[in-house]
Amino acid sequence: MAKVCVFCGGAPLTKEHVLPRWLKVALDPSVRKFRYIRLSGGGFQRHDAPPLNDQVKVVCSGCNSGWMNQLEEGVRHFLPALIQGKPCVLDTRAQRALAAWALKTLLMFQYTHRPEVRAVIPAGDFAALHTRRQPTESMLGRLGFMNYPPDDSEPLVDTLCQGYGTTELGGVAWIGTLKIGCMVVQIIRAPDVADGYKLTPFEALPSLRPMWPPEGPIKWPLVAAIPPELMTALALPESLDLNTMPG
Ligand SMILES: [Zn+2]
Repeated sequence: MAKVCVFCGGAPLTKEHVLPRWLKVALDPSVRKFRYIRLSGGGFQRHDAPPLNDQVKVVCSGCNSGWMNQLEEGVRHFLPALIQGKPCVLDTRAQRALAAWALKTLLMFQYTHRPEVRAVIPAGDFAALHTRRQPTESMLGRLGFMNYPPDDSEPLVDTLCQGYGTTELGGVAWIGTLKIGCMVVQIIRAPDVADGYKLTPFEALPSLRPMWPPEGPIKWPLVAAIPPELMTALALPESLDLNTMPG
């Protein structure tokens, strides 16, 4: 574990719940299992445990109770509906809040694992979130829908973060995927985009919609569900096909 705050370099460190305990209201108590798989450089990890227990001690109290708490507050009124698949509409402001919250949560999940597995997300991406409180222009976010797991045969919470080689792509790249209940959020970190260019947004699909940068409102639940067996293919695409266009 780090000795100083991974965001601001401050101390002392405080414990942070990776998933907030207030999410309990959104989780069906009869489906309890947590699954975490990470494949990075061929590594594979899995464990089963109650979903809201994970804590990490890598952030200072100023960050924890300040801007990180504000990111929690920004999603609190709609996140339970997303997780449960209840009807709602996400406007662009909600999509911004969700993208920032998902990025923060993916960064905290990094610290539930050993250092060699954790190296996928570079320190600069932590610093950028601390400064901006939102994803950068070198990131894309999208929101997918899955049916709520019927029982413990499917994971209630599933998160994966895959790094991509630096040579072919000319920089750091990774994809973080976080599924909780019906909600699947992905943050795709492309190699740094040159000035004057921006990433081409992903195509809107019946089960997967672009969310960062936000476009139009998203009506939830989406009209189609991603089959759970496609989770691995979604989170670990064989190649990262990202294009840029003049901004
Ligand atoms: Zn801090």
